[in-house]
Amino acid sequence: MNERMRAICDAPGVSGFEDAVRDVVTKLLEPYVDELWRDRMGNVIALKRARAGIPSPRRLVYAAHLDEIGMMVSHIDDAGFVRFRAVGGLDARTLPSQRVTVHASSGDRPTLAGVIAAHSGWLGTPEDRDRVFPIDELYIDLGRSAADVRGRVEVGDVVTFAATLDDLSDEVLVGRNFDDRIGVYCLVEAMRRLGPVDVDVYAVATVQEEVGVRGMPTAAHAIQADIAVAIDGALPSDTPYARPEQRQCALGSGTGIYLMDNRTIGTPQLVRGLIDTCERHGIPYQRNLGGGTDASEIQRHGLGAWATTIGAPTRYMHSTVQLAHRADVEATVALLVTFAGEAAGLLPADWR
Ligand SMILES: [Zn+2]
Repeated sequence: MNERMRAICDAPGVSGFEDAVRDVVTKLLEPYVDELWRDRMGNVIALKRARAGIPSPRRLVYAAHLDEIGMMVSHIDDAGFVRFRAVGGLDARTLPSQRVTVHASSGDRPTLAGVIAAHSGWLGTPEDRDRVFPIDELYIDLGRSAADVRGRVEVGDVVTFAATLDDLSDEVLVGRNFDDRIGVYCLVEAMRRLGPVDVDVYAVATVQEEVGVRGMPTAAHAIQADIAVAIDGALPSDTPYARPEQRQCALGSGTGIYLMDNRTIGTPQLVRGLIDTCERHGIPYQRNLGGGTDASEIQRHGLGAWATTIGAPTRYMHSTVQLAHRADVEATVALLVTFAGEAAGLLPADWR
């Protein structure tokens, strides 16, 4: 990994509270774009203009979401234990025994370390041993007295998982939020490497994707895109318990090009164009069926845009041990850079 990936993945940014990661991404994008602003929802919109001499250039959007799933403090009990609500799609099975960081709004420490606990096995019934504890039965233990906790933590403070970016092996990275910080990293890298192109390229780092794609609409409104590619994790099924007929993407086999997900049918002409770009330039790719991404809200906003999603397969999404392969990250960046050079030729002459 490099410094940029570390800065992007280790900055906190629970949905709706993306300030820290937004600052990181703003600084990384600024030197490579002609214009950059933050819209009213909190999205970062950065524009690299088409090369001089292109009359009314088409608008190509690359979008990745800044937010990560996390928690919000909902109650502090008389002993100082903290209850929480999920922000985004937390999987209750993954929560007990996690280390977390509480982003405290008061007191002298901006962050407090904690652990998520369920009641200990010996306190419960035999059935409890085999049960998945729902989120409202879990609590955060900060290892502090009630008075100390009360002096520092308030209802409404946000909580992130404490896991940081790391190498799992020479080829595979592990992190708590690769959905979608690996996408954000690919977005930044693509803008760094992009040469002069015939389209206006908008790099959009969106907010609140994990709570139902709430950030993208305002950015879509501001831009009025012609073509939009969201960058988000593809779903690998090369793990135990995936049946042969469920298998599509595999870690290390290239960037995933979304054909369809639960919110979007990838525009077939765009999907074909992305596949053609990969084939002509020897960029490894695979076909992916996904969950749902920012592409949904830009495809049908305003006059509409051709839209789909690409991204490195990410194992164990919405856990704190998400895995991604370096080669898939590289393939995703390569596709973004190369496709920007070819996008203008994809739209029909009678496009309107
Ligand atoms: Zn995502």
